[in-house]
Amino acid sequence: MTALKIRRLQDLDVRGKRVLARVDYNVPMKDGKVTDLTRVRGTLKTLQYLIAQGARVSLIAHLGRPKGKPEPKYSLKPVAAELSKLLAQPVAFASDCVGPEADKVVAALKPGQVALLENLRYHAEEEKNDPVFAKALAKHGEVFVQEAFGAIHRAHASTAGVCAYLPGGIGFLVQKELEFLDKTINNAARPFVAVIGGAKVSDKLGVLSKLLEKVDGLLIGGGMAYTFLSCQKISIGKSLLEAEKVDEAQRIIAQAYDRKVGCLFPADHVVVKELKPDAKALVTESMAIAPDMIGVDIGPRTIEIFSDEIKKAKTVFWNGPMGIFEMDAFAKGTLAVAQAMAEATAQGAVTIVGGGDSLAALAKAGLSDRVSHCSTGGGASLELLEGKVLPGLAALAGQKV
Ligand code: AMP
Repeated sequence: MTALKIRRLQDLDVRGKRVLARVDYNVPMKDGKVTDLTRVRGTLKTLQYLIAQGARVSLIAHLGRPKGKPEPKYSLKPVAAELSKLLAQPVAFASDCVGPEADKVVAALKPGQVALLENLRYHAEEEKNDPVFAKALAKHGEVFVQEAFGAIHRAHASTAGVCAYLPGGIGFLVQKELEFLDKTINNAARPFVAVIGGAKVSDKLGVLSKLLEKVDGLLIGGGMAYTFLSCQKISIGKSLLEAEKVDEAQRIIAQAYDRKVGCLFPADHVVVKELKPDAKALVTESMAIAPDMIGVDIGPRTIEIFSDEIKKAKTVFWNGPMGIFEMDAFAKGTLAVAQAMAEATAQGAVTIVGGGDSLAALAKAGLSDRVSHCSTGGGASLELLEGKVLPGLAALAGQKV
């Protein structure tokens, strides 16, 4: 980031201008209702600044993975209603992000007014970074503000493509994220421990390999752990396995050994026969899981070991749940990590939590304000840790992505 020349919102002239702002409103929803507004709240400072400057603000965002066509369950309309309450002013909604309907809503905006345009991912062109689509989006503004830290690691039309057509800069939330993560990553107090969980091994293997160059300890839990156990010939029963990633997992373990990075896996597990919220849960005696069982959470011994490691660290980065925490019965491991993060913070450690699930778990435990930094971008913060140049930033700096 520091090497790139990027303007900040306060360096841009937005007075009375039409501003196109990319925000991250990829919020959790249940039965058509937004269940957590953290991401929306994160953008308020920038929005209030733009409103005060008399800008006419068009917000673009994505929600879920609607695969390039409209799907009502991924509509951003409920988010517009919540944003309106938070801003205490009406927020117009356009049922498409490009085309006549969007143009009409944007053209009707008066100074200080805000509109939210429908899910970008209703168009396949968004994720393809299609230049025609990017140009159609860019038409909504005279200035572009990048405020979607959670999407800044993607080279999409709304995060990279639009920058070819509009002058732009980063909003207050992105500034805060970058300052904090940059400072921490480059000057981490040691020991520096990363706790990585979640389900997508394939998404996170590259990150793990890079993380090994930065951290002193790596704790791996959640659905990811089983691929790592399996590659060490430990039986994992019917637990999540990415069989084609076993060799790569093995290479990561070897790399950790070479670098003398302590790499810890679950020593015990909570297991069930059937994946349902009220399934009878058992705790394994060791790392191994019986052939007919599924691992759904880290076990009590692992909780103790992981918590101790977290509390001994001076810098901790956490991304991804330790179990299927959406089901209360299997949330103990994740909540325990949240608790250990809060305790480490109280002892003076710098603690960073990234990723929607980890943030949700932290909130569920009532500990959101007890860690040093809640990052709104799970993937983006991981890629910064990896030392990658984020495409959304590179595009703002005028580079081709
Ligand atoms: P990710 O997007 O990779 O961070 O994965 C988050 C998801 O991982 C959550 O929805 C969890 O339910 C899931 N997860 C965590 N532990 C397990 C597990 N043991 N088996 C299956 N899924 C898991």
